[in-house]
Amino acid sequence: MRQAKRSQLIENKQLFISCIVPVFNEELNISRFLLELTACLESLTDSYEIIVVDDGSKDATIETICKLPKNSHIKVLGFSRNFGKEIALTAGLDHCSGDVAILIDADFQHPIELIPVFLEKWAGGSDMVYGLRNSRKNESRAKRSFALLFYWLMSKLSKITIPNHAGDFRLLDRKVIHALNHVNERTRFMKGLYAWVGFNTCAVPYDVKERAGGQSAWGFGKLTELAITGITSFSDVPLRVWGFVGFIISLVSLIYAIYIVTVTLLFGADLPGFPTLVVAIMFFGGVQLLSIGILGEYIARIFTEVKRRPNYIVDQKFGFDEEG
Ligand code: UDP
Ligand code: MG
Repeated sequence: MRQAKRSQLIENKQLFISCIVPVFNEELNISRFLLELTACLESLTDSYEIIVVDDGSKDATIETICKLPKNSHIKVLGFSRNFGKEIALTAGLDHCSGDVAILIDADFQHPIELIPVFLEKWAGGSDMVYGLRNSRKNESRAKRSFALLFYWLMSKLSKITIPNHAGDFRLLDRKVIHALNHVNERTRFMKGLYAWVGFNTCAVPYDVKERAGGQSAWGFGKLTELAITGITSFSDVPLRVWGFVGFIISLVSLIYAIYIVTVTLLFGADLPGFPTLVVAIMFFGGVQLLSIGILGEYIARIFTEVKRRPNYIVDQKFGFDEEG
């Protein structure tokens, strides 16, 4: 039933598609990207919108978009500063009105040609269709190992399952958009949220191309931050594990104490053991600081949540209805 309705919408070219494109310093790619994306969408439907979310670019990204031939389908949200890709995607979802939303990067790493395949899968009944990278060959070895470690930790520590090579390149049905828009946490880890909202999902494998121009904005520091956000947003194991660690250490100490008392009673007092003492003090100092540090991570996130600042601030907005 649902499938028939969806197929009909696509066949009649009546499906309203929203494309959400987060951009940060993409002046080299944006005009060619928007032209190619527009051509693809024109061939698929009569009604679409492209929401470009400018995440506080320092270069001429917005000016480049303004210089393009006038196209009423292209809308721009310009942030007052860089808020990060996760927030840019959130803003795009907040502002889109399509039956489906397609999240796509502007650097040509997400193939535009895959959009019709996504739509086909959607017509087949999937509510969320995501691209699955065939390989991460064009990423550095360190980045790959880091990603592997992160996904392994996530699978062990949290109840949600995040597909290993999936990214933000995906199609979301209106239901999913609605669900995501109702998740009002501030520290947003989108890959986790896609998995958390559930729904009927389906993967489409694709080959990642090299970035067309410019550089990836994700350095090691930003990736580590994202990984910590991911883990702390979706798992409370790091917070609770210390109870267990404390229990084991207490148990071992008790056994050791019994051993010392027994040895002293049987063989008389012999009290060397200065190195043991130093090592023990340092070890427990380390464990305590580590656990306090992890507590701090969670408290910092609670702090961010309770401040209830808006997720983003829009500085420029054009192409949307209210602006004419
Ligand atoms: N991006 C963004 N805000 C940022 C960093 C990146 O909106 O703070 C955009 C960027 O313009 C691109 C997409 O997010 O369209 C993916 O970024 P990038 O190519 O740097 O990441 P990678 O492909 O290396 O994961
Ligand atoms: Mg990229």
